[in-house]
Amino acid sequence: MVHASLIAAFNLSGRRAVVTGAGSGIGRAAAIILGRAGASVLALDIDAAGLAETKALASRTSDIASDTASDTALETTSGATSGTAFDVAVVDVSDFAAVEAALGTGHFDVVVNAAGIMAPDSLAATGGAQWDRVLAVNLTGCFNVLKCAVPHMSGPASVIQISSMMGHRGLAFPAYTATKGAVLALTRQLAGELGPRGIRVNSVSPGMILTGMTRDHLAQAEHRDQITERTPLRKVGAAEDIGYAVLYLASDLSAFVTGTDILVDGGLTSVINL
Ligand code: NAP
Repeated sequence: MVHASLIAAFNLSGRRAVVTGAGSGIGRAAAIILGRAGASVLALDIDAAGLAETKALASRTSDIASDTASDTALETTSGATSGTAFDVAVVDVSDFAAVEAALGTGHFDVVVNAAGIMAPDSLAATGGAQWDRVLAVNLTGCFNVLKCAVPHMSGPASVIQISSMMGHRGLAFPAYTATKGAVLALTRQLAGELGPRGIRVNSVSPGMILTGMTRDHLAQAEHRDQITERTPLRKVGAAEDIGYAVLYLASDLSAFVTGTDILVDGGLTSVINL
């Protein structure tokens, strides 16, 4: 369990953050944690109900309790709430006009691209429409948000893109893997382009994290056991584990960090080829 005071110590007060995919899982955890650190937050998602739940969770006075039995593990125990603005907007990130309408000419200090969809199919089973949709959400969605937000950003600022351990390895699922590898490449390129303006660009690559995306898979004991047995830390991750890496990259503690990726995977990628 991480106490609220530790998160607050990162001190993002006065910063404005936009987080996509904030209606569930990793985006939700990142949005809430950034809010608890004092940032005002604009949370975007295609799922209106999920966003409403995120907003309700964000308004609670709570510590962050890591509980991988639930993918909405941001439980109430004790601590202080930041009291900063937490706005939500229902947006399909693949729709440039919708993203542009939601972000407007707003100034953001932190951008988190977490919206994503899985496509758990082989090349043979992946149709053209599925390929196009996965690229549209997982890759073009990042582009759309950056295209709208970056012109109104000024340093010091931080962009954090959620890739995946699958962007580092050829495990399975070509469409999904291609988007996550592309996110890593885009992150490196933009670090060079935006660094001189004081805008840092980094990514976080989760391993197996219990969220809406993985809930059904991990509900099957044989799948969950297979993952935990292969993971050096012998567990699957929680959404907050990724949120904490996002918090570090959003904060001044990472002021000299850009163009890189943080794997948060319990060590799985390190041993996956063994
Ligand atoms: P999640 O719980 O399914 O959350 C993703 C959120 O993005 C959902 O609320 C989803 O809404 C939303 N979304 C989907 N399409 C969207 C669109 N076009 N526009 C706006 N929002 C959209 O999954 P997650 O695990 O937190 O995933 C977050 C990010 O982490 C993704 O980029 C994913 O690829 C990455 N990741 C996850 C894992 C993992 O093990 N969970 C591992 C590596 C990387 P719907 O539910 O309505 O689709």
